[in-house]
Amino acid sequence: MGYTDLNAPLRTIMTPGPVEVDPRVLRAMTTPILGQFDPRFLELMNETMDLLKYVFQTENKWAFPVDGTSRAGLEAVLCSVIEPGDKVLIPIFGRFGYLLQEIASRCGAEVCTVEKEWGQIFEPEEVINEIKKVNPKLVVIVHGETSTGRLQPLEEIGRFCRENDVLIAVDAVATLAGVDVRTDEWWLDAVIAGTQKSIGVPSGMAPLTYNDRIEKILLARKKVERGLSGGSSNNSRRIQSNYLDLSQIQDYWGPDHLNHHTEATTMLYGLREGLRIIKEEGLEARLKRHQLHEKALVDGLEAMGVELYGDKAHKMTNVTCIKVPEGIKDEAIRGTLINDFGVEIATTFGPLKGQILRIGSMGYSCRKENILKVLGALEAALIKYGAKVNRGEALQTALRVYENSSEPVLI
Ligand SMILES: *Cc1c(COP(=O)(O)O)cnc(C)c1O
Repeated sequence: MGYTDLNAPLRTIMTPGPVEVDPRVLRAMTTPILGQFDPRFLELMNETMDLLKYVFQTENKWAFPVDGTSRAGLEAVLCSVIEPGDKVLIPIFGRFGYLLQEIASRCGAEVCTVEKEWGQIFEPEEVINEIKKVNPKLVVIVHGETSTGRLQPLEEIGRFCRENDVLIAVDAVATLAGVDVRTDEWWLDAVIAGTQKSIGVPSGMAPLTYNDRIEKILLARKKVERGLSGGSSNNSRRIQSNYLDLSQIQDYWGPDHLNHHTEATTMLYGLREGLRIIKEEGLEARLKRHQLHEKALVDGLEAMGVELYGDKAHKMTNVTCIKVPEGIKDEAIRGTLINDFGVEIATTFGPLKGQILRIGSMGYSCRKENILKVLGALEAALIKYGAKVNRGEALQTALRVYENSSEPVLI
């Protein structure tokens, strides 16, 4: 049963992305096309940049989306900053750390990694000691590691990098707009996000921001491109990618609006509307909303008797991982949820595959009815497959969390 000729069913999507999209965003995406040099379109681009600065909590000059999914944003920052032979440190504590390692090594970096057991995060001193040992040009690190549901504290690492003239770029794809990400206060030089996670817009753009320390590198590498490098004193190499060259993309988003790619018009309409919704809700209220629904979910799961996975002190607010009970297949539970209840949750990757299930509560999907639905459906599936659960406890517990909330729960 679908509501268009695509026959795409209406789902309750409780994964770590893509997530459900506010109908306002979908409506905005049916707005007629404007040319990319239309004065109104230029205004829309500028409005989007301002809204992004608000969500990234930054005074940076540059904040814009790169067209392509989140990894296009990661790749744009890494290939624009890293020159062949540059030392790059990547602390890895889950699947997305390996993605950063792969991209950085494709850029020709001399990549140094330090790894943590999955389910853990790094104590800031551990990363700082590694920086002292390796002395990299750039540290690239994941903020919310979606594969394990862990949240890496960044402020101390960011401060150390700034004080020691090391750059730091952060994969905040899963966190931005659902978990606090303080670009400036945490001394982060570049931050990359994704639209289909906590921002709550379809997949297809990678909003990012960077400061003048990054821009300096871009401009130096652009001079090389124009043959203005000034001889042997400047060893910079031209940025290898055209599409992901941030120096060109910033010229497109800047006041001169120099032609580069053709902006993805419809995606921009969607992103702008998604960001306007965030601004109207207020970033702080939005983060609180994610916390409240997390509490209802986690308390409900614990009341059900389900075991949570990972270091509890560093759990992502918007991703909750549970252990799959002994003798039950993760895909069987996921299958019952989606086929019988229309509720989608996620399995995971690598060493944890089959052992945990991941429940996302991001953006527009992070709503009371969705939390209650996923708890009810999960309980039914677990009972069906013979797990021992405390029947009926989960929903009552979650309902009490909502009743006891000091603020009215509107959605
Ligand atoms: C989802 C995700 C990505 C990849 O995003 P795509 O949009 O699929 O390219 C990267 N990093 C993290 C932490 C993610 O959660």
